[in-house]
Amino acid sequence: MKDLTRVVHHPEVSLAGYASLTVPTYRASTIVFASAADYANRKGRGPDGYTYGLQGTPTTKTLEAQLSALEGGAHTLIVPSGQAAITNIFMTVLRPGDTVMIPDNVYPPVKAFCRDFLVPRGIGFTVYDPMAGAAIETLIDARTKLIWMESPGSTTMEFCDIPAIVAVARAHGVLTGCDNTWATPMLFKPLEHGVDFSMEALTKYVGGHSDILLGSVSVTDAGRYAALKDTARLMGIGVSPDECALALRGIETLGVRLAHMGRAAQEMATFLAGRACVAQVLHPAFESCPGHAIWQRDFNGASGVFTVVLASECQARLDEALGALMLFAIGASWGGTRSLVAPMAIGHDRVHGGAEGLGTVLRISIGLEDEADLRADLARLCDVLEQAGG
Ligand SMILES: *Cc1c(COP(=O)(O)O)cnc(C)c1O
Repeated sequence: MKDLTRVVHHPEVSLAGYASLTVPTYRASTIVFASAADYANRKGRGPDGYTYGLQGTPTTKTLEAQLSALEGGAHTLIVPSGQAAITNIFMTVLRPGDTVMIPDNVYPPVKAFCRDFLVPRGIGFTVYDPMAGAAIETLIDARTKLIWMESPGSTTMEFCDIPAIVAVARAHGVLTGCDNTWATPMLFKPLEHGVDFSMEALTKYVGGHSDILLGSVSVTDAGRYAALKDTARLMGIGVSPDECALALRGIETLGVRLAHMGRAAQEMATFLAGRACVAQVLHPAFESCPGHAIWQRDFNGASGVFTVVLASECQARLDEALGALMLFAIGASWGGTRSLVAPMAIGHDRVHGGAEGLGTVLRISIGLEDEADLRADLARLCDVLEQAGG
């Protein structure tokens, strides 16, 4: 073999004795076949077979299998972001003339997707009160195809009655899906409550280090998995095995990270509840959180994200107070090792009301730092907020 040929044919090495604890990162676009007949029959490998890198490599499949196991599902699809996971479900299920129901506290880009993408294509949406429970039945009509849930909802932290909503949906032949990003399958498993699509922004807790973007959809039904996979294939959507390898590394510490974050977050919420600048704590361990009893009934604990409503007389000093923080970073995409705070003005995008009077709220994501340091930093914030005058 001449060198020009040699350089594109790597020598084979033995794998005998190579036992490692890590998942190898398999990168590929081209998949090669042993024979012409194998190539001709490649479609017969099904939605889980290897035919082209866009459809996944063993690294992608390992992450899919791990999430299926954790979610209590049979199949999982990985896509490039949490938002892409939601839009993939909607585009797989909905046809012109159909309607999707979304909660008022949904991750805001989902409302924008419905308004700016679905509606111009003849698909409608209705926005329901997340605390309505079984009463959402009155909103279901012949066009309703999917009820989307998010529990707790973004920023205002309402926990919805998933079993009650699923029961109503099933009675009307309507599909259900749930954004499980806050809880992760460590704290809640939507599929075990009869939800058809359990979705997660792996960008947040699974990735866990603020350096990847990925989303997942887990299902129990093989036909629904094939349909989700078809949507991704037809739209040309796949994920990098490098990102999946980082998600697999992240997931190994998910349990211990969530345990620390959950404990520290409850401690910070308790500290903040005792400060004069805080009017309300929206953390599920507190009765002031809407759906507190539902959380107690259905979830195995709380993760590290919660919200505080500020006393109205303290709002004017918020920007100055945020500037006093030394450990908490100001930013939105939570779930990493560093604690974050995001000032959120939410009233304008809610249609069912209730949020107008809240002003700018603080969404807090607790990271992996020491509780005493975090408490001292939050005390700096509160001290500025509580200064007289201004
Ligand atoms: C961040 C987030 C998403 C979107 O995830 P991306 O990977 O950023 O697209 C969806 N739902 C919830 C609840 C989120 O917090």
